[in-house]
Amino acid sequence: MPAEPARGVADAPAAVLWDMDGTLVDSEKLWTVSIADTARRLGGAVSAPARAAMVGGDMAATLDILFDDLGLPRDPERQAEAASWMTERTGELFAEGLEWRPGALEALRAVAAAGWPMALVTNTQRELTEPALDAIGREFFRVSVCGDEVARGKPAPDPYLRAAELLGVDPASCLAVEDSVTGAQAAQDAGAAVLVVPCEVAVPVGPRRVQRAALSGLTADDLAAIYRVAVARPAA
Ligand SMILES: [Mg+2]
Repeated sequence: MPAEPARGVADAPAAVLWDMDGTLVDSEKLWTVSIADTARRLGGAVSAPARAAMVGGDMAATLDILFDDLGLPRDPERQAEAASWMTERTGELFAEGLEWRPGALEALRAVAAAGWPMALVTNTQRELTEPALDAIGREFFRVSVCGDEVARGKPAPDPYLRAAELLGVDPASCLAVEDSVTGAQAAQDAGAAVLVVPCEVAVPVGPRRVQRAALSGLTADDLAAIYRVAVARPAA
């Protein structure tokens, strides 16, 4: 039952596309633990700049940065083994409990009440996303796209383009919500308007972006207004 009055397409987004880690749930902090544990297992310690560069990245990018940071050759077999171990470790940490980012649950409920379609668009693999969807509430999302289901993860636009395709909407008429440099770039390059709510790393301003400190208190009307501001900005 839509709680908002009917709107023209220009007034409200055709869909809201949500990033997961660092946007809906505070899971980047859990990734920090699993990445540190993986580094230790590989005989080293990950540097702070390397960890920051991994935020929002997919597994392949994360392992390339990690191996470079540790001074290890990018051996495919060793990286595959590290990916498997890191995924298992992250799954354990997710199972211990995912914390909401401030205002995220309320924002999901507000968009659901407005009747706008939603997608979850994450670089995280499907096997970790499924239990997270159970915790977040899979009923919020008409579709979900994971990092291992597209040719290129974020910062490539592929995950956002795929989500818009599955929803049957023009990506340019969507509002994406992102916390990272990597994710905001992906959404922007897909042509979406982007609400940036930084979590672990600062995100530069950019075309079709609006930035807020938190999702707390944002109503559907606020999100529609953010969408209109973002789409009114030059595309590049
Ligand atoms: Mg993120």
